[in-house]
Amino acid sequence: MGSEGENLPPHVLIFPYPIQGHLSPMLNLAHLFCLSEFHVTFIVSDFSYRRLLKHTAVAATFARYPGFQFRTISDGLPDDHPRAGERVLEVFPSVTNVMVPRFKKMVVDEDFLASAARRPVTCFVADGLLSFAVDFAEDSRIPLLYFRTSTLSNLWTFFHVNELIEAEEVPVKGDMDALVKSVPGMEGFLRRRDLPSFCRGGGEGNNSLLRSLAAVSRQLMRAQAAIFNTFEDIEGPIIPQLRSHIPNIYTIGPIHEHLKCHLVEKEAEAEILSGNFWAEDRSCIDWLNAQPPRSVIYVSFGSITIVTREQMMEFWHGLVNSSQRFLWVMRPDSIAGKDGGDQVPAELMEGTKAKGYMVKWAPQEEVLNHPAVGGFLTHSGWNSTLESIVAGVPMICWPYFGDQTINSRFVSEVWGMGLDIKDTCDRLVVEKAVREVMEVRKDEFLERAQNWAKLAKKAVSKGGSSSVNFGDLVDYISSL
Ligand code: UDP
Repeated sequence: MGSEGENLPPHVLIFPYPIQGHLSPMLNLAHLFCLSEFHVTFIVSDFSYRRLLKHTAVAATFARYPGFQFRTISDGLPDDHPRAGERVLEVFPSVTNVMVPRFKKMVVDEDFLASAARRPVTCFVADGLLSFAVDFAEDSRIPLLYFRTSTLSNLWTFFHVNELIEAEEVPVKGDMDALVKSVPGMEGFLRRRDLPSFCRGGGEGNNSLLRSLAAVSRQLMRAQAAIFNTFEDIEGPIIPQLRSHIPNIYTIGPIHEHLKCHLVEKEAEAEILSGNFWAEDRSCIDWLNAQPPRSVIYVSFGSITIVTREQMMEFWHGLVNSSQRFLWVMRPDSIAGKDGGDQVPAELMEGTKAKGYMVKWAPQEEVLNHPAVGGFLTHSGWNSTLESIVAGVPMICWPYFGDQTINSRFVSEVWGMGLDIKDTCDRLVVEKAVREVMEVRKDEFLERAQNWAKLAKKAVSKGGSSSVNFGDLVDYISSL
């Protein structure tokens, strides 16, 4: 890109998928780069940016770094599109057909975002789901680093989609509890029902969707490097296997905790953003303050999951019948159906008062680290799972879709820090699981959860694997 601005720091172009679970870790990555004194251009959809501005300190946080800039582009969907539940899948074609062409035009028209104070883009950090990035980076001769917001293990299963289809283990049918044989390293514990949810459904149509997802995953092999929000201890056995396909892997997670460590080290006071699309209701912290230690189960299904009224009532009865205290996040758009879908039934609100508390959105990390919280009923999104691991809180997993079905199996069978109740939504099952995690097997789960918390914190502190890997990543980008 010419020799202009060679004395200026590297300039990293970051493009996350415009949904909350992808934005949060990539904003944290941008923040880590800013602390390393890199220049950063961060691509965000108009819609996401407005939500971030409204509900977070994003503007003030990044205003501290003169080398940082946001660039906003439309994701091509109307403002009132839900971008949740199954309709989140509509974001994919819209990003491909509208957002990506606008992005390419902007970058090329502006000479790779060069200015007197900024080098042209030094490297492109693209979300692992953005398959256009490989050809774009190659054509533009910019090094590409893919960032995957899910686990290495999830990626590893996608690397074996052809074998899974050939062995007729996928599309998943028949005995859902049969162990999967076609994913090396996971033969002993991964059942068909634990495969990423896209392995369900039938017919050639589903196989071709799967093959295209597998092709997107394999694109990682064409990038110069891949960055993962995970850490070596927790996914150790898979790392060497994946390295034989992608030599340049940087595991730098849990990234929210990693950022916290760097901010402390640099004595910077910036707030850590959770990428919120909703206003946090902090009254739940006052409520938690009044509860005994480890007595509350926190219930949240993330930013996309939609439940039916029947499912919500099963959870509610299960929670109430367990006699445990609970704090439940009920997003305004989280109940299916068009007849007043965002209204929580009055009986449920009323009946919750005795032992529970409900909010529309919580400061989740703070909640998980609150002494009153003893368990987490979660949809097993990877950010939520990592936040629970760092806080040392045992989980009850009710995965909704995507990688959540595999994450939950790791939580229960590999890491031993909770229960997986996937594919059931029954008040008796919920009640039993809550009692097990909060009372019967409390000590066992807590001990393991706290051990994982120690390892996660060690990974991101000075000398830990994620910290060392991030240092190597910074050196690598500086050498480009
Ligand atoms: N979250 C939050 N408050 C809530 C519920 C969720 O801050 O009341 C945050 C949570 O801390 C996590 C993110 O939303 O960082 C959810 O991401 P995850 O990957 O777990 O699930 P997704 O929303 O992508 O399904």
